[in-house]
Order: sequence, then C-alpha cells, then structure tokens
Amino acid sequence: MRDSKGMEKTRAIYRISLLLIALHLAFAASQSDIPQDISRDTSRNLNEEHQEVHCSRERSRAAWKIIEEYLTPFVEKEKYQLSSRCRLHPSSDLFRDQEEHKIHVDVNEWRCGYCKKIFRAEKFLDQHFDNRHYNLLNVSHGKCLADLCGALHCDYVINSQSHKSKCNPAAAARNRHLCEDLANKCFPVNEGPSASRLHEFFLHQFCDAHTCSRGVKPFARGGKKHTSVLYLAASVLILMFLPMFYVIVFFSQRDKKGLTQLKRVARPGRKSKPS
Ligand SMILES: [Zn+2]
Repeated sequence: MRDSKGMEKTRAIYRISLLLIALHLAFAASQSDIPQDISRDTSRNLNEEHQEVHCSRERSRAAWKIIEEYLTPFVEKEKYQLSSRCRLHPSSDLFRDQEEHKIHVDVNEWRCGYCKKIFRAEKFLDQHFDNRHYNLLNVSHGKCLADLCGALHCDYVINSQSHKSKCNPAAAARNRHLCEDLANKCFPVNEGPSASRLHEFFLHQFCDAHTCSRGVKPFARGGKKHTSVLYLAASVLILMFLPMFYVIVFFSQRDKKGLTQLKRVARPGRKSKPS
C-alpha cells in the first residue's frame, strides 16, 4: 500500500513537472512566434482584402501617356485596330477604369468619379482608389502596363533630368528584345500594308533607341508641342527689350562721339593758353 501510494506520488510529481515543462515550452514558442504570426496574419488579410496588386500605378500611367502621345495618333492615322492580344491594347491597363474616374476639378482639387469624394492632390486620390475601390481593378487577366516600361522608355519620361545615367548594355539588349517583341505581336508584318508600316514605325520610334551608342533618342516623331506660358512670356520680353537695348546703345554711342568731339574742340583751346 505504502509503495503504491509512493508510486502514485512520484507519478503525480512526474506528470506535473512534464506539464510544467510543456507549458514553459509552449510559452517560449508563443513568445517567439507572436510577432511573426501577427505580421503574417495581417499581411495575409491585407492580401485577401486588396487582391495584392504587383503593378505600379505611376509607371502604368507613364506607359499609358507614352502610348497616347507617341503611338496612338499614328495607329489612328492608319485606321489600324490593335488586337486584344497586343499588350499595348487599352485593356492591358488594369488601372484604366480608375484613371478614367479621376476628375481634375481645379489645381488642388481632385474628385473621385465613383463616390464624388474630393482630394487635395492626385496622390491622395490614388490612395483612395487603392483603399476604397480596389475591387474595381481589372486584375483577372494579370496584365500590367508598367511591365512594358522598359520597352517604352518610361524612365526617360519620368526623370527627364537624369538622362546621363550610365548605360547598361545587357539592360539595353533586354529592352530592345521586349520592344521588338511588341512590334511583332502588335503589328504583324503579314497583316497588310498598314500593319507593316506601323511595325517599321514602332521599331524606329521606340526600339532603335535601346542602345548604348549615343545620339539615338526615342520618340522621333509625335508628341504634343509644349508651348509653355514661360516660353511665351520670355519671347514677349525679348521682343520688348531688344528695341530698347538698341536705343540705349545708339544713345551711348552718340554721347561718346559727342564727348570726343568736345575734347577735340577743347584741347587746342587749352594749348593756346599761356603756360
Ligand atoms: Zn471614391
């Protein structure tokens, strides 16, 4: 009896100590896992909510502008229809619907076209789209216009100041390949004369500049002529000041002549005075 009681006691102690060890281990594990789990869970939730979009809105917008400005006018002139397989097709831009629901009311007033909310700057409206209207993004086809930025020279347009960055031959070759691929898919030469002409044009307009040799710039043709207010003001000022400048020069020259003539007249008079 005493033996069995002793055995029970040791078993109980053994169980309790096991329980304590288990509890301790569980606590330690939970301590180290808390931050990771929380971050993992929240990011997962965010992804589920926002359908995680790996596509830059800003770069997509730059690519869209380049297409609009340097390609679309020529495609329209040829009355050519881009196929939906072509990645330059408007349906490739998953932000298109949102971008078309931006209403620029005034310099510091941007309105959401879906819910009419007003924002001070475009970036706040972009954030609003990301937070409130993410369900309207056309993510089903997995296309992203920003992926074409390499071929379309988005960086050339976005940071127009820093063109002097070192050229990377491998990157240039890669972009050229992407560019030529676009030309082949969007304007197949066997699809008739206008496709063939546009193919040639696309190579010249976008692909030829993917080289490290200097002097070759993209967008040989097209683009809006930017006659800025500053340029106009400068021209008006120059036109106004040019006659004034000549008048001043004329008078200063005349005054100089007058002075030298006076000196010439004055000198003999002085000489004639007795010293
Ligand atoms: Zn809204």
